Amino acid sequence: MNTPTTPSSPAGPNQANSTTGTTTVITNIGTLVTNDPSLGDHSPLGLIQDAAVVIEGDRVVWTGESSKAPTTDNALDAGGRAVLPGFVDSHSHLVFAGDRTAEFNARMSGRPYTAGGIRTTVAATRAASDRELEANLTRYLDEALRQGTTTMETKSGYGLTVADEARALRLAARHTDETTYLGAHIVAPDHADDPAAYVALVTGEMLDACAPHARWIDVFCEKGAFDGDQARAILTAGRAKGLHPRIHANQLTHGPGVQLAVELDAASADHCTHLTDADVDALASGDTVATLLPGAEFSTRAPWPDARRLLDAGVTVALSTDCNPGSSFTSSVPFCIALAVRDMGMTPDEAVWAATAGGAAALRRTDVGRVAPGAQADLVLLDAPSHVHLAYRPGVPLVTGVWRKGVREV
Ligand SMILES: [Zn+2]
Repeated sequence: MNTPTTPSSPAGPNQANSTTGTTTVITNIGTLVTNDPSLGDHSPLGLIQDAAVVIEGDRVVWTGESSKAPTTDNALDAGGRAVLPGFVDSHSHLVFAGDRTAEFNARMSGRPYTAGGIRTTVAATRAASDRELEANLTRYLDEALRQGTTTMETKSGYGLTVADEARALRLAARHTDETTYLGAHIVAPDHADDPAAYVALVTGEMLDACAPHARWIDVFCEKGAFDGDQARAILTAGRAKGLHPRIHANQLTHGPGVQLAVELDAASADHCTHLTDADVDALASGDTVATLLPGAEFSTRAPWPDARRLLDAGVTVALSTDCNPGSSFTSSVPFCIALAVRDMGMTPDEAVWAATAGGAAALRRTDVGRVAPGAQADLVLLDAPSHVHLAYRPGVPLVTGVWRKGVREV
């Protein structure tokens, strides 16, 4: 297990971009997850035992054995606890107002519930002030940060008018670089009689208003939302405006979403709960990540996505929360890791990789999701000797320290 580790040089090729600043070493780390297979035990997690990490400014500049750590301005003793990359949550819906407790309670109590679903949140979101929406957004971003999430994507999709979608993205862009235009969440209630006109709006005036505030474009490709042809038109229009595609695909039923994602080189196909063999083959052949969102299956008592099948086929898998007020109201990546290990056939190592490096791949990022020289200094300190405890001790608040861009936040 303890393969000798060659300490990485602080003068690596990425250092030209690092912010010169104070250096801090974290020593006496029981298990360090680097997600760099050239380090440590050369597994996908690049595990180093009895490790140290040096941060300079907002970057990691050195990893290796604790006994070989260089001298720095500041030092912190991890006391044998584990350090891993900050979680990269690549799928959430945090710009919303209102509450759907009654809907959840009815569903979990086996009672019929016919009120609005997403439409309930759309009405509340439209009625909220900018200040209320932003306060709600930062509340959940902070909640996620305290649980170790240092990169969080979030989407529009509860405004569904030109002004309300643009507002959602403008507010989100103040707090994260990973913003996604999801005007195509559902057909807006005001356009229920004319879905084609709504698709024209989403690909026209609404796209023009939203594109300046978004990095990604997304569509809910599902029966009752948007079909394959509509999804293709929406994602293609977004791409022409400089947005990169991602897609809600194959969540509730089999459908064309996954195949379309691979065809359009979407960064991620999200949900992937109902897949044919051809869907799995398509994902294995392309660069599209399969992002699994077990909070949704948990909160709707739906069958789990089969992570084992995807991993065995060679598909890159990410794990995210899908945090939203309707179908998955959790901001906890550790909870999703525990579900993925218990119920989706993932090993603890695979689940931790999926929630860090996998999330980074789903956002086409190489600067986050790993702890190696040149990476952004986003770290989680667990009150446990190894990352396996995230699944071994479900529901226990193990995250005891969080650094983002080299700054200790928790
Ligand atoms: Zn979603």
